[in-house]
Amino acid sequence: MKVTFYGTRGSIPVCDTEFQEFGGNTTCIEISYEKKGKRHALILDAGTGIRNLGKELTKKSHQATEDLYIAFTHFHWDHIQGFPFFQPAFDKDQRIHIIAIGPDRGITNLREIFATQMQERYFPVNLDNMGAKFDFVMTERSTRVFNGTTISARRHQHPGGAYSYAFERNGKRIVICTDIEHGTELDPHTIEFARGADLLIHDAQYTEAELLTRRGWGHSSFKQAVEVAIQAEVKSLVLTHHDPDHDDAFLRNMEKVCQERFPNCMLARDKMEIEV
Ligand SMILES: [Zn+2]
Ligand SMILES: [Zn+2]
Repeated sequence: MKVTFYGTRGSIPVCDTEFQEFGGNTTCIEISYEKKGKRHALILDAGTGIRNLGKELTKKSHQATEDLYIAFTHFHWDHIQGFPFFQPAFDKDQRIHIIAIGPDRGITNLREIFATQMQERYFPVNLDNMGAKFDFVMTERSTRVFNGTTISARRHQHPGGAYSYAFERNGKRIVICTDIEHGTELDPHTIEFARGADLLIHDAQYTEAELLTRRGWGHSSFKQAVEVAIQAEVKSLVLTHHDPDHDDAFLRNMEKVCQERFPNCMLARDKMEIEV
């Protein structure tokens, strides 16, 4: 599996020059693999980064006849804002599976979330007029297989609830825990969920000092993310959901600090690719 980051920023996109190394687009991660010479894509979240992913998919070996899968951690703005700009969604030959798995989502109508976002009061093109064939998949089950990849989801603490995801294929496991607030102690269930992962991608929006004044905002500190990686004995760690006030110089410095504690650790950068 190849992981590509298309959106690494948390909360709101930033476009200022001193934020470009790590990237200004909000959360979107692609997990892709070749099967019979074709590129297959599983996508996590549709932050503003999904716009660039859509353009890449249109350019590369992806063909509209191959289904696309977009799984959602939750539906805060920074995780859905790019959806109306996802180019493949305007192709009538494209089938897109919108996925929300895991118990206790508290959603009665998954389609409505996207239809509401695209009401003409907010956006000029309605969901029904985009063109692609949408398949809305919501299930209380915590594990399902999509296109030969096992996807599992687990609810964790975040305002309104959010879900950690695990992607497993050919004996490799990628775990993504973003928009997670541990509280005063690390969440033991999250550590178990991440246990032994080949790659853990974890929220690291705040410093320890910032976390103290942002309790209840739903995020983790750099230190907490590193501690989860150590306790879960993961092989590698990538930190993401960068705070919109953390510029490149700040993040470069934080990366060094985190690497001192857990050497196989990096901060996510836009377009960064990792082979797992
Ligand atoms: Zn977020
Ligand atoms: Zn959120």
